[in-house]
Amino acid sequence: MTDLPPYRILSHQIEGLNNVLKTQALAKSYGRIKAVKSLDLEVSEGAVFGILGPNGSGKSTTLSMLLGILTPDAGSFTWFGQAPEPALRKDIGALLEQPNFYPYLSARKNLEIACLIKECSTTRVNTVLEQVGLLPRAESAFKTFSTGMKQRLAIASALLADPKVLVLDEPTNGLDPQGIAEVRELIIAIAERGKTILLASHILDEVEKVCTHVAVIKQGQLLAQGSVLDILRNQHQVELRADDMAALEQALAGYAPAAQRRRDGNLIVLSMIGEPDGTALNRYLFEQGLVLSHLRIHKKRLEESFLEITAKA
Ligand code: ADP
Ligand code: MG
Repeated sequence: MTDLPPYRILSHQIEGLNNVLKTQALAKSYGRIKAVKSLDLEVSEGAVFGILGPNGSGKSTTLSMLLGILTPDAGSFTWFGQAPEPALRKDIGALLEQPNFYPYLSARKNLEIACLIKECSTTRVNTVLEQVGLLPRAESAFKTFSTGMKQRLAIASALLADPKVLVLDEPTNGLDPQGIAEVRELIIAIAERGKTILLASHILDEVEKVCTHVAVIKQGQLLAQGSVLDILRNQHQVELRADDMAALEQALAGYAPAAQRRRDGNLIVLSMIGEPDGTALNRYLFEQGLVLSHLRIHKKRLEESFLEITAKA
């Protein structure tokens, strides 16, 4: 089994809080390519919400629609319970592409210029530099920064207007391992100060380490959504075999209709969230006239869960 880090924020602490974002049947095509298909997402206040999917699955397209850069073909979304309007944008800080910083100017000067572009006051420059741990390097030229520092400055820039939500697209792409660790730590620290974070990533490990909630998408389609604990960490597999496999399959459909069932050679494999009660399952099947020749329950590795979820579509 994978060695799991402790959960940072227990999902029950944020369930039931206000929805920051809700999308309904959001869709977008580029010509014949259906990039996003009828996407329903719900992001609660305080969540670090990961949109997880392989490259080309529609993550950037989704974020672009949510930020008003692209117009959806169909569907709708609300931020803070309201239909999108330009005034809401000040509550949403975003980092979609690498921002252009001036290499020879200092971190501070670059942020001051960003303030001019964003039409926000420069009073928060020190605060955001401090938040991303760059205050000691405020007067250093951007070009002297490591990859992690450069990306932390980009995040600082997204925080200038003190938004309630931070939207990040593949925030660790192109960084060296040290930079990746720094940026992940920073995202966690920002969330702990109460901001809601929406993050797109194709890296399972990143979502597992940083996010409290996840939506798994593939080819523009939502495959699963919920707490990281439920979706990625708490999946179990039950392998079963009996002489009469057809009867076994039928009985299982009655016992655990929500569980995903597949045939794997001469076994039936059930995938379910939460640990199943093997004794109860065995007793139930026996009462149905089925005697098992094999019963094995194991917790799925994260990679297994992810591969299985994304292979389903
Ligand atoms: P992701 O961010 O998950 O990698 P994207 O949203 O960038 O996915 O892309 C989703 C799909 O849309 C892909 O098939 C991609 O090739 C296609 N796509 C993205 N942008 C464009 C565009 N400007 N024109 C045409 N096709 C695009
Ligand atoms: Mg992308």
